Amino acid sequence: MIKAVRGTRDILPPDSALFQFVEAQAREVFRLYNFQEVRTPIFEDTQLFSRSVGEETDIVGKEMFTWEDKARAQSEKAQSLTLRPENTAGVVRAYIEHGLGDKGQLQKLYYMGPQFRRERPQKGRYRQFYQIGAEVIGPASAGSESPARDAEVIEMLAMLLDRVGIKGWTLLLNSVGCANDRGKYNEALRAALKDVVGQMCADCQRRAETNPLRVLDCKVPEDQPTIEKLPKISEYLDEPCRENFAEVKKILDAVGVKYELNERMVRGLDYYTRTTFEFTHGGLGAQSALLGGGRYDGLSEMLGGPKAPGIGFALGLDRFVLALQSEASGAQVQSAVSAYIAPLGAGMNAAAAKLARELRAQGVALELGDESFRLKKSFEAAERTGAKFVVIVGENEVKADTFAVKDIKSGEQKTIPRSELAKTLGGR
Ligand code: AMP
Repeated sequence: MIKAVRGTRDILPPDSALFQFVEAQAREVFRLYNFQEVRTPIFEDTQLFSRSVGEETDIVGKEMFTWEDKARAQSEKAQSLTLRPENTAGVVRAYIEHGLGDKGQLQKLYYMGPQFRRERPQKGRYRQFYQIGAEVIGPASAGSESPARDAEVIEMLAMLLDRVGIKGWTLLLNSVGCANDRGKYNEALRAALKDVVGQMCADCQRRAETNPLRVLDCKVPEDQPTIEKLPKISEYLDEPCRENFAEVKKILDAVGVKYELNERMVRGLDYYTRTTFEFTHGGLGAQSALLGGGRYDGLSEMLGGPKAPGIGFALGLDRFVLALQSEASGAQVQSAVSAYIAPLGAGMNAAAAKLARELRAQGVALELGDESFRLKKSFEAAERTGAKFVVIVGENEVKADTFAVKDIKSGEQKTIPRSELAKTLGGR
């Protein structure tokens, strides 16, 4: 028996309807906020991720699905390719490659699709998972650096959570500073870690040297008390970063989006600057992050592009669905058909197919039965589909061009002429 690979899964109905529901709500919210869709490739040049997400991150260091592509000719070097572990790098690459900022406009792009990380699978954590995300990126002259954009993206997410019907969320907010203050903070961290790092985990010992900010990401329980005592980033923010962060908070206060400040929230990707945020949910267990994001003002330059400040986020679609299922309100997204067409007796399949085609063309979602079913079996099948009506297509009905329509719940039966059927069944 061949099974789905560890960490991957099949999303079956009715869960798939919940996935579609969240996707549809997200598309609608993106429309309201004037975002447009971008679709980037599922695999990219490995360097795209090592240069942006960062060599010292768990993602690049341990979790990527990477392989050498066969060289086409002997003279050619094999190219290292990677299944995308996240989508921001791909979007920024596309922004640079197509000169999307050349006309000076702000780009507001969203994406939906699978991402891949070789993490230890558990509830809410998969090796193929689904993200919906968006980026606001452009030349500074287009306003891409404005804290108003940070606040708008965060407020949009609160709007999306409301629309989807997820209630028990918490917004964690932080500022990780910019290139200017990051250096000073890293130095302070290095100095503070010097005496204590010997007792910390191997990853922390290495990161204390290579990228001390990543120490704050450590999940090893024994290291937590040490990490709590490390210098706080807020004390190292320079004046512009401080003002920027104050403005983000001011706008969030004005629009009524509640947040908690969390100075340890540096996020697991190196490209973040200034605002970082995460929405968590109590019903998710250990993997409590519903979504995360932040500003990435130097990312375009890191990838060889022009200066193009930006802010974005990615939400975990799998976790949105888990959160919905954990809340009693559970979105009602059963997409039942409205009618079941029951051909009655030998030779009636063709007439029933013709009627079904006409009704579907008029917007009626329906299930088509089979002439070999007796009426009782057709009714049972109709109930299983959740249909409201059964339309009986027998010889007499076809001759008279009027059809017996039975309301399954009330048992009431009416005879309806063909021309009025679609309207009766909820079509056009
Ligand atoms: P990140 O790209 O790490 O900032 O993650 C953004 C969001 O994607 C997280 O808040 C999660 O909701 C989701 N996510 C990240 N990794 C996984 C995974 N392995 N399985 C399921 N969801 C994930």
